[in-house]
Amino acid sequence: MEHETRQAMSERHILVVEDEPGVVGMVARLARSCGYRASSTASVEGFIKVFEHLRPSLLLVDLKLAGGDGVEVFSFLARVNARTPVIIISGFGDQVLSSSAHLARCLGLTVAGIFSKPLDVPAFLTTLDTWAEREMPLPADQATSENPVRRLRHAIDRGELMPYFQPQIDLESGQVVGVEALARWQQPDGRVELPSEFIPLAEENGLMLDLTMSLLDQALERHRAWRSEGLDLSLSVNISAGLLECRDFPDQVDATLARHGVPAECLVLEVTEQSAIRDPVRAMETLTRLCLSQVSLSLDDLGTAHSCLAELRRIPLRETKIDTRFVLDLADAAQSRVIVKAIAALSHELGLRVVAEGVADVAALEYLRQVGVDVGQGYLFSRPLPADEFLTWLRARSGPQSKLTEGIST
Ligand code: C2E
Ligand code: CA
Ligand code: CA
Repeated sequence: MEHETRQAMSERHILVVEDEPGVVGMVARLARSCGYRASSTASVEGFIKVFEHLRPSLLLVDLKLAGGDGVEVFSFLARVNARTPVIIISGFGDQVLSSSAHLARCLGLTVAGIFSKPLDVPAFLTTLDTWAEREMPLPADQATSENPVRRLRHAIDRGELMPYFQPQIDLESGQVVGVEALARWQQPDGRVELPSEFIPLAEENGLMLDLTMSLLDQALERHRAWRSEGLDLSLSVNISAGLLECRDFPDQVDATLARHGVPAECLVLEVTEQSAIRDPVRAMETLTRLCLSQVSLSLDDLGTAHSCLAELRRIPLRETKIDTRFVLDLADAAQSRVIVKAIAALSHELGLRVVAEGVADVAALEYLRQVGVDVGQGYLFSRPLPADEFLTWLRARSGPQSKLTEGIST
């Protein structure tokens, strides 16, 4: 067992592609302290020569190299389809760093971290620890709480991040026509954390793909079980803008659907924040590929700064979602009523289904029906619920005298 552990430890291997000897020495020392083996090379040529042979588990790449630059390293990695995560380091400043990281992601690489010089040592150690954990997960009882990124990583691996389901109601028929899966973090002590407490951390640390795929996997497993009981519901899942720039996201979605035997037509992916996308061409490619595999797209949070009308003509959408904030204050704000009515009319003109979230009282419900909103979602019907409770709620609701507001949660 001890032997196995040592062997696994020795597989953590960082290749430092850097031409400043001082930085190489410091990085190698820090990496060793985290259980890595460290090698280095100062040029692009040297890197190309040793990469295939060394097969490192992690790369640190300086943007300025002897006789070349880090971008050539990225291009090479993309060409040979290498999946080795890359930590980018540079003395050029934040702007250059973030656009190189963006370029690396566009080339399909995994960016494990971005560091300016001089190196922020504690943050760098955290990054090394996080990626070491990815290669060789610690037993559950050793997953300590001191590093929040590591805790989140473990939580994703152990399935502590799970989907809660909030029903979507057809406002004309009163039928439950779908569910939105919303991420919740079930803490070992029983507390349930909301997305606002962990999604930003996941976004900042490259964990969104794993988080989303884990959630999608669990949600589809439930969906398949519901389908086998004869329930015909659409399943909506949120995806962050960054995922649209991830080359193999559509393939992963397809593979997950296939694994669960759920038709792509049942899945709706909710997208927002197109403005945050730095490579619109790549994002459009992802959206188009998703559409081609019959997955539906929904423009989430419509009307907020994160989601604007211009997207309506760019994205191949099936539906729009009016954001909670307009629906929650329908009773008090005349502007919100105008906005909701206009979004509903515009969406219909464009042939799109329109969903309102945040339906919290009967007055809002009446207004939404009046202006022709197709589907409603909100606390009036139910809060987001764990899968079992959702099924109980659904069964209690589907009695013979089922009404639009029946099953109101307290
Ligand atoms: P969202 O996609 O706009 O989801 C709707 C939010 O409104 C949910 O908050 C839901 O619980 C809340 N909501 C629904 N009806 C009502 C209502 O009647 N009253 C009030 N006050 N709130 C209502 P939640 O679950 O806290 O999620 C917040 C946001 O976190 C989501 O907003 C979404 O942007 C993000 N999120 C959640 N799960 C995921 C995920 O798996 N991936 C990604 N990328 N983002 C997620
Ligand atoms: Ca949503
Ligand atoms: Ca929203």
